[in-house]
Amino acid sequence: MAVLAIDIGGTKLAAGIVDSEGRILARGEIPTLAKEGLEPVLARIVGLGRDLLSRPEVAGVRVHRIGVGCAGPVDLKAGVVFNPPNLPGWTQVPLTDHIQRALALPTVLENDANAAALGEFRYGAGKGARSIVYLTVSTGIGGGIILNGKVWHGLKDAAGEVGHMTVCPDGPLCGCGNRGCLEAMSSGPSIARRARELLAAGRQSALGQIANPTSADVVRLAKKGDPVASEIWDQAVRYLGIGVAAVITILAPERVVIGGGVTKAGDYLFQPLREHVRQRVKLVPVESVPILPAALGPDVGILGAAAVALDS
Ligand SMILES: [Zn+2]
Repeated sequence: MAVLAIDIGGTKLAAGIVDSEGRILARGEIPTLAKEGLEPVLARIVGLGRDLLSRPEVAGVRVHRIGVGCAGPVDLKAGVVFNPPNLPGWTQVPLTDHIQRALALPTVLENDANAAALGEFRYGAGKGARSIVYLTVSTGIGGGIILNGKVWHGLKDAAGEVGHMTVCPDGPLCGCGNRGCLEAMSSGPSIARRARELLAAGRQSALGQIANPTSADVVRLAKKGDPVASEIWDQAVRYLGIGVAAVITILAPERVVIGGGVTKAGDYLFQPLREHVRQRVKLVPVESVPILPAALGPDVGILGAAAVALDS
């Protein structure tokens, strides 16, 4: 028994045939070409699915369902996607119906962050736990909450947006319209923005010798002891700690799993982060809540979408 997993991103479309143990039997990836608009992208998604279903390496494998991870907002019950910021022209797209009809298999939709959370829960760093909170810290900060083995969707499927909790009351404006969201303080672009601000204010740093310093440059120079880079990094980690501490205090999950590009900093992120969290969480036995790096790496999109199909 296997499923077709499709991960729809703004830059690439990834898909795989995945068995119930989480083994990827076949995989494919093509650029989304999101700028071409809705119809061409839908055609590419269906084409990629067809290609995988007809691969020789899955001949004889019974594929019984399709799982799709896509950026939200989504109405999961209706299988409709509403205007994801990275997919221009997707005003109100009945994605589940479209894929189901084209590929003739029952199809289940989940937002990409929830799918990733479910993937880590089932196959990755959350394996064996009953309840986890997953965060992805990269261009944005997304998340998913798994309680007693199920994604917590909340009202209008809006739960799990850990990146948009306020961690700094008068902080910078966030893409969502609020000020001082975790995403506005600790995402890759917000770290890079802080570097530009401090350089513009005349602070002396090796960051000034880089044309467009990124969060990776900030980490690299902070590790070398550059005081401005260290200050920027410490602040980003501190705010992430405030967010993670809030999540642990409210939900007391068994584990917190963190993925995304910013976690490439490794222990340089996780050690101070754990310390910030430990200092702030008083009512949950925080030593019993491991804060772990995500384990699935670039396969999280495919394995997440697969977990969605297998769990439905
Ligand atoms: Zn926000």
